[in-house]
Amino acid sequence: MGPLLIISGPSGSGKSTIVSRLIAMPELRLRQSISATTRPRRDGERDGEHYFFLTDEEFRSMIERGEFLEWAEVHGRKYGTIRRLVDEWRREGWGVVLVIDVQGAEAVRRAYPEAVSIFVKTSSLEILEQRLRQRQSESEESIQRRLANARGELARASEFTYQVVNDDLDRAVAEIRSIILDHKREDSKHAG
Ligand code: 5GP
Repeated sequence: MGPLLIISGPSGSGKSTIVSRLIAMPELRLRQSISATTRPRRDGERDGEHYFFLTDEEFRSMIERGEFLEWAEVHGRKYGTIRRLVDEWRREGWGVVLVIDVQGAEAVRRAYPEAVSIFVKTSSLEILEQRLRQRQSESEESIQRRLANARGELARASEFTYQVVNDDLDRAVAEIRSIILDHKREDSKHAG
């Protein structure tokens, strides 16, 4: 079984950028899980690649069929991790990365106690706000909602196995890379 890695952190913390850098490192053998969501598709996002974009009704029937490993409402929209996808990739030996919110992280830790969880943050809320504004894809309302949400998420950072400050992207990536490699070494010791 490949390892299960949870990455959480406020919107704007840079977790998605970090994860795409980690996925590009062949020695880590990682894949990012593709979640389902009811939020509208942003420019440049493709269905089935970034997310599976669903209607409320489609999402609800997936909940009813028990297809989600966890799901949560984030920034007023529903997001869920598709159980079959994660299990399949892990069985094939891939490490699977879940980029999910703190509620989802809690649910996954309960279901998969072996999961390694990492909380990514910036050293201040000001840096976070700057990054959200640089994105230019969010409305003022959405930025304010994401900042309010960030405060709530930061308050739960201590629930995670690791906390990584991402003020410097290269450093944050290097730090998480070594966390993953340490865990891989531990797992193979126990397996052998
Ligand atoms: P965005 O709308 O910017 O793509 O994602 C917003 C937030 O939703 C992300 O910061 C991430 O933490 C959370 N998220 C994305 N997918 C999932 C999921 O499958 N489950 C949960 N619980 N949260 C998710």
